[in-house]
Amino acid sequence: MKNFTWKCPCCDKQHTSLPLDWSMMAPQDFLEVPPDQRFFRTKIDQNFCGVDDKFFVRGLVELPVKEINDNLRLGAWVQVPIKQGERILKAENGPNSSRHGPFKGTLRSRLNLYPDTLNLKAVLHLRDDSVPLIKIEPCEHQLHVEQRDGISVDRVIEFATALMPKH
Ligand SMILES: [Zn+2]
Repeated sequence: MKNFTWKCPCCDKQHTSLPLDWSMMAPQDFLEVPPDQRFFRTKIDQNFCGVDDKFFVRGLVELPVKEINDNLRLGAWVQVPIKQGERILKAENGPNSSRHGPFKGTLRSRLNLYPDTLNLKAVLHLRDDSVPLIKIEPCEHQLHVEQRDGISVDRVIEFATALMPKH
């Protein structure tokens, strides 16, 4: 949340804070496992997930918003080869995680307000003070373009309007 006054375009309500964090709770692969099989086939916590023999790491796609000198942060899941996943898990649990990597993978989240983001190529950069940064590899996709060029406050408001449960 950021202190910022804005009027909701759909209901005209005045807000004094702007949400900057949105997150997908699980990778697409997890969501596709029928609930009655999840106990046997999956393992998930806030930042790591396994589905069968696939390994996923949660990170943040950060989009710079110059007008408010902050980022919009979209929590998303990246699939990495299992050996890399084990290295990331170990690095994240130890000191100086940022010395490890970067790690290449594939985005396995569908992000709201974008054309399908599943399978975009991504790189995970581990950080000492936060979950990994996800950098979308250069391509034509809007998500890459917005991460590279940044977004406007109006675009941030578009996210808030679409995703805030009550407003
Ligand atoms: Zn509204």
